[in-house]
Amino acid sequence: ILEFDHIDKYFGDTHVLKEISLDVTDGDVCVVVGPSGSGKSTLLRCANRLEEIQAGEIRLDGQSISDPDGDINRLRQRIGMVFQSFNLFPHKTALENVTLAPRKVRGIDADTARQRGEELLEDVGLLEQATSYPNQLSGGQQQRVAIARALAMDPKVMLFDEVTSALDPELVGEVLGVMRELADDGMTMMVVTHEMGFAREVGDRVVLMDEGRIVESGAPESFFGDPNTERGEQFLSKIL
Ligand code: ATP
Ligand code: MG
Repeated sequence: ILEFDHIDKYFGDTHVLKEISLDVTDGDVCVVVGPSGSGKSTLLRCANRLEEIQAGEIRLDGQSISDPDGDINRLRQRIGMVFQSFNLFPHKTALENVTLAPRKVRGIDADTARQRGEELLEDVGLLEQATSYPNQLSGGQQQRVAIARALAMDPKVMLFDEVTSALDPELVGEVLGVMRELADDGMTMMVVTHEMGFAREVGDRVVLMDEGRIVESGAPESFFGDPNTERGEQFLSKIL
């Protein structure tokens, strides 16, 4: 459903993504791991066109997203993204954060948006916090609101970039739990994470990046059990 076809990305002279090809199939959870600076965030940002690529093509449902004439706003509705920093609107309640984009961008009426927003907040376990402001919520709760907000646009694919890295350890589990439920519901997801337990249990595929390349890719059992490459073994020996 989300295909990266031989993409190259440069920042100036720096070649940060090198001939990346990857096919995230419908309903799959693709976990992306790798050392700092290997290009994981850049890869996700290219999928959402927060960054432009210099060669190759990225397709969603068979349609090129890198077409310069394509409507970026429509694309972003179809690909939800959640970051390490939650970036909620501080002067809006949890519910308002979730309903804002559907109302403004999709023109959904207030009642329908509120109803759907409440459903989503319930899904992430935060219906009782609907009228709370971000600064009244824990980091884990804020991140769950951010996930609900992304889901409010009914995306085809969700991208997660180290969404638990800024959280206190005791709050990580609640956010991973929401992601796990989403995966169980069949959402197609690309997840950059250092949480190897999550990668192993929830991932359908694990992709290891190093210096802008995919150096290993496979089912979690084989990736964690018996990596094919020396680079894979090296990476695992450092993290496990
Ligand atoms: P981390 O695990 O630290 O988040 P990452 O795998 O997400 O790392 P990226 O953030 O994608 O790595 O960065 C890949 C490379 O691109 C790095 O060498 C980085 O310095 C470079 N880079 C990222 N963003 C920019 C930018 N806006 N301008 C120039 N270089 C950048
Ligand atoms: Mg990153």
